[in-house]
Amino acid sequence: MVQMKTIGIVTTGGDAPGMNAAIRAATRVAHSKGLQVIGFERGWEGLITDSCKTLTPRSVGGIIQLGGTMLRTARCPEFKTAEGMQKAVKTLNAHNIGGLVVIGGDGSFKGALELSKYCDTKMAGVPATIDNDVYGTDETIGFDTAVNTAVAEIDKIRDTAISHERIFIVEVMGRERGFLALTVGLTVGAEIILVPEAQCDLSEVVETLKENSRKGKKAGIVVAAEGCGKVSELATDIEAKTGSEVRLTILGYVQRGGSPTARSRLLANLFAEKAVESLYQGQGNHAVGLQNGKITSISLEDSCKGTKKLDTHMLALANMLAT
Ligand code: ATP
Repeated sequence: MVQMKTIGIVTTGGDAPGMNAAIRAATRVAHSKGLQVIGFERGWEGLITDSCKTLTPRSVGGIIQLGGTMLRTARCPEFKTAEGMQKAVKTLNAHNIGGLVVIGGDGSFKGALELSKYCDTKMAGVPATIDNDVYGTDETIGFDTAVNTAVAEIDKIRDTAISHERIFIVEVMGRERGFLALTVGLTVGAEIILVPEAQCDLSEVVETLKENSRKGKKAGIVVAAEGCGKVSELATDIEAKTGSEVRLTILGYVQRGGSPTARSRLLANLFAEKAVESLYQGQGNHAVGLQNGKITSISLEDSCKGTKKLDTHMLALANMLAT
């Protein structure tokens, strides 16, 4: 086996708090093994255009506490084409990249798997997305930060909801999956949680809110993942059917930014170490993760093929506790 001398790092897809901590840790672990590190800029675009910079233990100083990604990130449609792939391979070969640490979500992992079919560079996926929807890990880098950001905002909204005896619908991120909505909803004590995995039954929502009102609960928080449909229409419907005032808050991009929590930084450090160590040991294309409290890795292919299940027990518990 030829010992690799250089690894690359790329952050792709949506930014997530803790990506910087992962870049820092991967760079420093690699340097401790005598590896050179090159950071590609703006996600896959950086591989296509050969936009990169050398990363050293010093150049990644002072970023562990910063949200976003110092390498920048982007969605890159060209990377989904054969021409885009070939340009990326050319860049990898030009820099003699033996292993590539891909920090991102499930889309980023699919891109890495596709790229691996065109080149000899080994891929190591590091799950980082606020959506927490990556198969093969119980948690992704950035999820805990986004949960805490949303919880802090909704706690403030509840003060107003109670004072004015109003129902608030709060939309959190999650176009396809409801991990964020579920954890946020359970931890703010939401009266109702709406996730894309379960059909939203308006009459059930209305009945629950009416029942709450009969029991003396005049205020309420509905946490809805963005993939559940137009919340403005839901607000109008609920207002019409309950006669209660309904207000709407869309949390939006505040959930993606901000300083990573200690938890997100911890995962970033542990995942990055595992990714670089595995590449160094010559492991093939893989994705690192956290499973039952242990840092693990599965094949990149399995991670891309699998679909992470929403914890339906958590949803049932949230409903039970919202009485
Ligand atoms: P997040 O869910 O946090 O937004 P993500 O990694 O899932 O993160 P995506 O936009 O889905 O974000 O994927 C990132 C990039 O990976 C895409 O912009 C695209 O360039 C590339 N990519 C995604 N799927 C594929 C694929 N099947 N083949 C090649 N490239 C892909």
